[in-house]
Amino acid sequence: MELLKNKILSSGKVLGEKVLKVDSFLNHQIDVELFNEIGKEFRRRFEKKHITKILTIEASGIGIACITAQYFNVPVVFAKKHEGSNMDKETYESEVFSFTKDKSYKIKVSKKYIDSKDKVLIIDDFLANGNAAAGLIDIVTQANAEVSGVGIVIEKGFQDGRKIIEDKKIQLESLAIIKSMDEGKIIFEN
Ligand code: 5GP
Repeated sequence: MELLKNKILSSGKVLGEKVLKVDSFLNHQIDVELFNEIGKEFRRRFEKKHITKILTIEASGIGIACITAQYFNVPVVFAKKHEGSNMDKETYESEVFSFTKDKSYKIKVSKKYIDSKDKVLIIDDFLANGNAAAGLIDIVTQANAEVSGVGIVIEKGFQDGRKIIEDKKIQLESLAIIKSMDEGKIIFEN
């Protein structure tokens, strides 16, 4: 997706060797026009899948998931990382190791919002080692629902996430795939 790649090149900042900071359009300030194009592109790529629900993880996935959901006319469910007093007692849970925070945390989804009839599209902002996506896949599997696909805005192709998802025979669509970020220079695969 050229628009997204150009935005990454013009506004992305490489931190260290493996982290891309895209706060100016994706993770802090949000470029809604770009999100609309991202939503349309996910719709195009998963058009044939009869999606009934989009699942993401708080917080950065929510904006992308909501705009994308408008093109599928389905609800969005987001996995919660923080336990609130108003969380339902009956939940699906999974453990996720955070790439950016270097520690594990639990994610939870109320059993009310995914069931065995659902065909779920998982959406997230980044794919690194695939832990967040694997946790979301685990939750859909616990609900006996179908994982219809995983849609990622930015994949870091030099990390292991793709293999984890493809080994489960799940369709993975990443709109920008970064091949390398050596010395701060971003090179794309696609
Ligand atoms: P994974 O679970 O695939 O290792 O990492 C994906 C999650 O970590 C995403 O939900 C995203 O929030 C965060 N993440 C991983 N790598 C990056 C990165 O380079 N930049 C940003 N902004 N977030 C990242």
